[in-house]
Parts: sequence; structure tokens; C-alpha cells
Amino acid sequence: MDYETQRRLMCELGRRMWERGWVAANDGNFSRRLGEGLFLVTPAGVSKGFLTTDMLVVVDSEGRAVQGSSSFRPSSETPLHLECYRRRSDVGGVCHAHPPAATAFACARLGLEEPLLGEAVMSLGPVPCAPYGRTGTPELPAAAGPLLDGHDALLLANHGALTLGPDLESAYWRMETLEHTAQVCLNVRLLGGGVPLSPEEAAALRGR
Ligand SMILES: [Zn+2]
Repeated sequence: MDYETQRRLMCELGRRMWERGWVAANDGNFSRRLGEGLFLVTPAGVSKGFLTTDMLVVVDSEGRAVQGSSSFRPSSETPLHLECYRRRSDVGGVCHAHPPAATAFACARLGLEEPLLGEAVMSLGPVPCAPYGRTGTPELPAAAGPLLDGHDALLLANHGALTLGPDLESAYWRMETLEHTAQVCLNVRLLGGGVPLSPEEAAALRGR
């Protein structure tokens, strides 16, 4: 995928996220690894439903803007994204949003770790809830960091959700699966609780 197509895709995924109601006002952020220590990130203070490619910012591994319009600052959660890339060399894209059902679990500080849905077991794995860290500060990457090893999706206490992937599109699809799983789990709780898959079946699904 060429650079311009990558930038257009980031804007398109922002529009989808906003239309689905996963971000309010200027919430949420995306990034992708560009190589050579550079990363493309969404700007601060802009609705992700109305991004244009000229708003996107290229940052270095310290989060400093090195390319892009001076009218746009990198997202305030850039350090959280950089923590994902620093800890996981296999990660090429990161998605952060506040989808209502997943965020409800995050506010209750409940992870989505029970193997209830086969598809979620295969594509997400267990989703823990990271301890609280204040948004836009170094507390947030410090709280989430230790859980990034071995997890492709996290809930962020009293805040929202974070998904990782080999590329940005994969991270976005994981956010869809995460929110769908959270909605199903809410309904399961209304029904009095679910019947988890056996450990053997969960292990077999994870291996696929
Ligand atoms: Zn957020």
C-alpha cells in the first residue's frame, strides 16, 4: 500500500469509527508505523469523522512532529501509541476509541477474559482491563504498558479501549470485534451469565 493510500485509509477508518459512535467530539486516535523510526498519527483537537490527509502528522520515536501542517499537533495520546510500538516489534497499527459497551466494561474495571465467543477467542484473545492512568499523561502508557506483551486488545480503566495489529486496518477490525464482544457480554450478563467454552476448546481455537 503506497503512502497516500495509507493516509486516505486512516481518514476513512476515522469516519467509520465516528459514524459507529465509538468516539464523541474529538475523541479517539490512530497511528501506523512508517519505518525508519517514524509513525503517522491523527491530529489532536479534530473529529475523527472529518479527517483529511493534510491533517495527519508524522512523528519520530519521541513523539516530535517531523512532518505535517503546523496547524495540527499530534494526538495527545501519541505516547500511548509509541509505547505499543516500542514494546511490540510485530505491531504496525494502533487504534484507540471509546466504544460505549467496551468503555462500560472499562468503567466497571472488568476485563473481557472469559472465553464466551469463539470468533473473539480466535481474533482477540483475552482482553484485560489495564489499571487507571490519566488520559494525555505519561500515566496512561505506564499503566497499559505491562499488559501490551501478549495482548492485542486492552480496556483502559475509566477511559476506553486500545487495539493493536500488524497494520492499522487489522487494529481497526479488532476494535470492531472488541465492541461486538462487549455488547454480547453485556447481554449475557442480563441473562444471568454465560457458559464459557471449555479450556480445551478455547486452547484449540487460539491455536487456529
Ligand atoms: Zn481516549
